[in-house]
Amino acid sequence: MNSVQKKQELQKIAQEVEKCQQCSLYKRATRGVSGEGNPDARMMFIGEGPGYWEDQKGIPFCGAAGKILDELLSTIGGSASGGQLIKFDRREVFIGNVIKHRPPDNRDPLPQEIEACRSWLDKQIEIINPEIIVTLGRFSMAKFLPEAKISRIHGQPQTIDFQGKKLVIMPMYHPAAGLRRGEILEDLRKDFLKLGKLLESSSKLEPSREQLSLI
Ligand code: URA
Repeated sequence: MNSVQKKQELQKIAQEVEKCQQCSLYKRATRGVSGEGNPDARMMFIGEGPGYWEDQKGIPFCGAAGKILDELLSTIGGSASGGQLIKFDRREVFIGNVIKHRPPDNRDPLPQEIEACRSWLDKQIEIINPEIIVTLGRFSMAKFLPEAKISRIHGQPQTIDFQGKKLVIMPMYHPAAGLRRGEILEDLRKDFLKLGKLLESSSKLEPSREQLSLI
């Protein structure tokens, strides 16, 4: 699929998410928040679900947690062929969520809500075909690494089989947790700094042990 086709497919999903009634969350939500970003993103960020501002605007991570995410994204550097530093922002990556409608009062999503929304996220991953998925928070991590504990494995890339392909999952704390606790924000900053190198070493192949040990 080329970039134009990918963009069209992602737009179709966004339209369908807007009409989705597969769980009851749509009843109290203002809008669906499908996700946004580069259809060819090498790196995809997956959060939990829309909060107040996301529900109002239909844009993922556009409230307080989004400010932190934008700041963290700007710290990812990589070097281009000429050696100059590439700075990241949200237009380079794709940002989505495990659930697409806001849960009342920002409560945790229920297992049946996550299941009802699963096919949207799976289709987005299939279309974008990222090399790296950064999970933000435990609900997103649990989709790929159901047994993992975030305090143990945050910042440590994990290679898994997903949709019949190798995929690198980088588990991270949720940026909202960084708003509440300074030490978590420090962990997030350190973990984000590893992404530039991870991206450099990734070329749609499983990173070697040597590459992973550099991170
Ligand atoms: N928190 C999330 O998990 N996702 C958003 O889009 C916003 C806040």
